[in-house]
Amino acid sequence: MLPPFVWSEDCLRHEPEAEVWVGVRTPATEVPARAVAIHGSLVAAGAPEVAATAHDDSALLAVHDPALVEFLRTTWDEWSAAALPSDRIVPYVFARPELTGGREPATPAAVWARPGLFAYDTMTAIGPGTWEAARAAVDVALTAVDLVAGGEPLTYACTRPPGHHVTRSLYGGSCYLNNSAIAAAALLGRFGGPVAVVDVDAHHGNGTQELFLGRSDVLTASVHVDPGAGWFPHFLGFATENDDANLNQPLAPGTRDVGWLAAVERAAAFAAPAKALVVALGVDAATGDPESPLEVSPAGYREAGRILGDLGLPTVVVQEGGYDLATIGPLVVETLTGLAR
Ligand SMILES: [Zn+2]
Repeated sequence: MLPPFVWSEDCLRHEPEAEVWVGVRTPATEVPARAVAIHGSLVAAGAPEVAATAHDDSALLAVHDPALVEFLRTTWDEWSAAALPSDRIVPYVFARPELTGGREPATPAAVWARPGLFAYDTMTAIGPGTWEAARAAVDVALTAVDLVAGGEPLTYACTRPPGHHVTRSLYGGSCYLNNSAIAAAALLGRFGGPVAVVDVDAHHGNGTQELFLGRSDVLTASVHVDPGAGWFPHFLGFATENDDANLNQPLAPGTRDVGWLAAVERAAAFAAPAKALVVALGVDAATGDPESPLEVSPAGYREAGRILGDLGLPTVVVQEGGYDLATIGPLVVETLTGLAR
């Protein structure tokens, strides 16, 4: 029996079209069809659908800088009014702290310079529906939290765009608002601490790690491809960042099920003291996914679900990555099947 899943059509409104990688405009991989594919698989598998309900910004602002939220809310209108030659917002200059000697950078007069205050890469394009989709994903995550707070043992939030690469004030990695972190903060308010986020996306959950750094009330664990082997987010995600409340397990390309599941077991043990759990579910560690080399099988995802389900914690599963449109839906179903007890 699959758990209820939360859905909002507004999550489809973000159409990045392209991402600028090494200076080249390449076709986007974080596309609306991802969520459509997951939705189709869940419905076919008989999972009950729950419509997302609107939530105010309080849970959002508990996690993110109000300036980032305001930028995301308003930037498309400003950009489109400026009649610039690009149909998507891509930064060209970045406000690094060293640029201003650590002083607060000025808000640029030029609309085309403003993304450089909040973006950390060139891949994460903003277009006409980006804010609406990202904000809807927050409502999806918070509705899933509401269900768990109301007694459901397990819920799935079909969030898109994903969120785990977003810090308090910087967006990137095809993410705009950190749905998993927002869900964790909301669970903390409902269940008390500690709560845990176990991130099994193929890439390090750098935003979630940085958001809760130094806090003992949110335990963060991430199982991901080793950034030291050349993978996003490149600058962090190493075991040297580990402490009592943060566990990074970088894995070699080609790790496959046995090694990946051993890491999931260690992440589950790390999360065991929590009162509630967020699973940041990227299925891009799977064989055939174009974005990672970890080669995990569908049976591996089901087993990861079983391992995390065995914790017996109130659990909200939040969708992160996964880019193979043929397998993304079945992989989510496999994981939820493992989680459901
Ligand atoms: Zn990923």
